[in-house]
Amino acid sequence: MTVPSDDSGGTELPGNRVPIYYFDPVVGAFHYGPRHPMKPHRIHITHSLVLSYRLQNHMHLYKPKLATKYDMCTFHTEEYIDFLSKVTNDNCSQFSQELKQFSVGSPNGDSPVFGGMYEFCQRFCGGSLTAAQHMNQGLSDVTINWAGGLHHAKKSEASGFCYVNDICVAILELLKYHPRVMYLDIDVHHGDGVQEAFYLTDRVMTVSFHKYGRDFFPGTGDMYEIGEQQGKYYSVNVPLRDGINDETYHDVYKPIMDGIIKYYRPTALVMQCGADSLGMDRLGVFNLSIGGHGEAVNHMKSYGIPIMYLGGGGYTLRNVARCWAYETSIIAGRRVGNDIPYNDYHEFFMPDYKLQPTITSNKPDNLNKKEYIEYIKESTLQNLKRLPFAPSVQMHDVPPDLYYYDDFEDPDDTHMDESGVNIGPGQMQRRPHYHEHYDENAPDVDNSDEMRRHKTMGECYNDHLKSL
Ligand SMILES: [Zn+2]
Repeated sequence: MTVPSDDSGGTELPGNRVPIYYFDPVVGAFHYGPRHPMKPHRIHITHSLVLSYRLQNHMHLYKPKLATKYDMCTFHTEEYIDFLSKVTNDNCSQFSQELKQFSVGSPNGDSPVFGGMYEFCQRFCGGSLTAAQHMNQGLSDVTINWAGGLHHAKKSEASGFCYVNDICVAILELLKYHPRVMYLDIDVHHGDGVQEAFYLTDRVMTVSFHKYGRDFFPGTGDMYEIGEQQGKYYSVNVPLRDGINDETYHDVYKPIMDGIIKYYRPTALVMQCGADSLGMDRLGVFNLSIGGHGEAVNHMKSYGIPIMYLGGGGYTLRNVARCWAYETSIIAGRRVGNDIPYNDYHEFFMPDYKLQPTITSNKPDNLNKKEYIEYIKESTLQNLKRLPFAPSVQMHDVPPDLYYYDDFEDPDDTHMDESGVNIGPGQMQRRPHYHEHYDENAPDVDNSDEMRRHKTMGECYNDHLKSL
């Protein structure tokens, strides 16, 4: 149930921590091209709703830095990022071989070259990376970057509208301070890029709830994909069928998440909140309500573990904005009204102008039968019981060059002043860091066929460990 909002940004919910909300005023201006379902503009619409509910009064707003090539290459190859930074619509013909090699442009048109493509990647990736750095610095335990969450991008390949995987870049950053990071993905599509990146390690547990089957993109995410080598049982997949509703979703979601928190004991969480799992999504096939989607966020929040919330898919714009604005209110601990206050995009929300209109229906049918859900739940919980309780990592001092002392001394490091709270130098306090660090015994990749399939992950993770 919701109650009317007021000028102070709704009424307070108990047990809150002040989040940092990252917003780049330019990120929503990029355009994939006519008829392309991915619309970065949805980030601006979301932001407009957030401001209309005055949620900025209960968060720190921050304009993130742009990610650099160096930042992106903690996960991606230099060759790939170099290509992304150079290719344009005007010089495409010079890059015909690279376009094919890196799956950019035709034939399926999912990941086209568009004006400002690289800058767009720098902006959304910068938000997630800055969030991770701020969490490492202890500036906040709760961060939000709705522009991030592009979970399909691979080490050297674009996929499913994603060119740069900001999630992997952010998780690698968190691993500098956190012994165990849990990644959760509630997008309707499998979080394949992140799973592949950390498939061989127990430092990151990846968890994805998604539609699986009948050639649904990306085609991975079977429940038998559980990780390999040191990462065996540290990939969790919950393959679901069309039409899942709130009740069935939470029947499987909550027990599995509770089990993972209990057995894995992550020290940081990253949650990809893809809104294409809502009912009536242009590309999705699930039937979640905004309240049901938000309940998944609320449940994660209840664990009280440091957490980064990211966006992701979502192709019916007005509902994506509603969903992420509503989830911002949950994260900020504010109960907001169902009547949307006047805002720059008010006409988007006609005719009802409600934050949570009915977006579910009896069609499509819920094809997730109770027996099927019970089977997935039981199998997953059995696998979790095989985990050693909170896998250990060797303890190290954190190298001093990881502290990012210059973050608050950079004159270009712009803070929000127009509509948010200034969090300039001196206003935020550092906190002692974790002194747990990475596992030097992470396995090397061997040359078996099975391993070759996951080669990009092994290289990424192990290369990164060597560089620390
Ligand atoms: Zn998706």
